[in-house]
Amino acid sequence: METILAIDIGGTHQRFAEISLTGDILEKNTYQSHPHISSEEFFEILRKRISDRLKKTSFLGVAVALPVLMPVLMNEKVGNNSVQDAPNLPFLVGVDLAQSFSFLSVPWIVENDANCALLGEAWLGEGQKESSFCCLTLGTGIGSGLFLNGKLWKGVRGMASEMGHLKIDFLGNTPCTCGGQGCLEAFASATALQKKTGYTAQELYGMACRRESLALHAFEQMGESLGRGIGSVANLLNIDLFILAGRLSQAFEFFYPSCIRVAKESAMKGPRQHLKIVQSKLGDDAGLLGAAWLIKKKFQL
Ligand SMILES: [Zn+2]
Repeated sequence: METILAIDIGGTHQRFAEISLTGDILEKNTYQSHPHISSEEFFEILRKRISDRLKKTSFLGVAVALPVLMPVLMNEKVGNNSVQDAPNLPFLVGVDLAQSFSFLSVPWIVENDANCALLGEAWLGEGQKESSFCCLTLGTGIGSGLFLNGKLWKGVRGMASEMGHLKIDFLGNTPCTCGGQGCLEAFASATALQKKTGYTAQELYGMACRRESLALHAFEQMGESLGRGIGSVANLLNIDLFILAGRLSQAFEFFYPSCIRVAKESAMKGPRQHLKIVQSKLGDDAGLLGAAWLIKKKFQL
């Protein structure tokens, strides 16, 4: 069977999947990421994992979802290929990605991970029937992608839709990984939850399932912050549908009530009317599937 190797690299995990052209995930492996290594070590490990797979399977292409800000990238060099910003993998800033993936002899593509999740939702998820929607990936950080009039919106230089860095607080005492203050990500990501409570998001999820008040309260506050960001974007773009994906979206039932309440309070009367916030059914696989779809489309596989 003709398949694509899709790789989703997050702040704490790397996932490799073999995906068919119709979007079936045939095999999937997860590895721990090491946030404190050098970019050389990072690419050495990545190259080995990819090369080992290419020796066993003749993939049509390799599609990589990365949590970084960068221009559009495919086999050929396009303008400035270096990573502009990478709050959750800071050692990647300044790395020339075209150079880093030049060892590949098959078609390859690298795209921002949240954009990949958005495309996964448009292809096989909650966004299939929508011409315009937003997808947020809740994990170590908060990523987001915008689908406008049937297309991924990348902005003038390919770096649009950083909803995680919308400013939702102006008191100046909540630093964000981007170097700014008061960003949504500093309030509603797994990192923010851990900083605030001392528990990992996974532990908090377990505690919330057991109805422990500390965790229920943490998710309620997270939902309020998320709702504030979503309400502002609804006002700006008049988008009805917001899909929440990523690892932390598993706690949807715990943060949704406060999230939709504050989103509706923050949005104006018009945009508020049809506002919907839904949980992704693709979950963590959205990024892998979107990356596979992108390479399939760009190289007409
Ligand atoms: Zn920020």
